[in-house]
Amino acid sequence: MHELSVVQSLLETIESYAAEQKATTVTKVIVRNGPLSGIVPHLLRTTFDTFKEKTIAEDAELVIGETPLQIHCHDCKQEAQTMVLRFACPLCGSRNVDARGGDDLILERLEMDVDDDPY
Ligand SMILES: [Zn+2]
Repeated sequence: MHELSVVQSLLETIESYAAEQKATTVTKVIVRNGPLSGIVPHLLRTTFDTFKEKTIAEDAELVIGETPLQIHCHDCKQEAQTMVLRFACPLCGSRNVDARGGDDLILERLEMDVDDDPY
């Protein structure tokens, strides 16, 4: 399952970042999922909720946003963004396009409680 390896590396990133920031608890994990990532959001959430147990993100809420696909059109020479998985220019309809991005899950932001009192 694709989501499993994604969640494992996500949790590793979260734990090392939280340790760096001396966080005590991670309260919210905000990710952006590209339309080409192949990740199913509800499976991602279920997997995250299973594997977050006993990590610093145990009580964290997972927020899944979406990243648009970047379309570069060779006909009208425009850059466009689209949330629709369709390899055509949203401006002129040409199929002579390159699609970029959107094939990844990005960790956008972590919200955490930091223990800034050293005593
Ligand atoms: Zn175009």
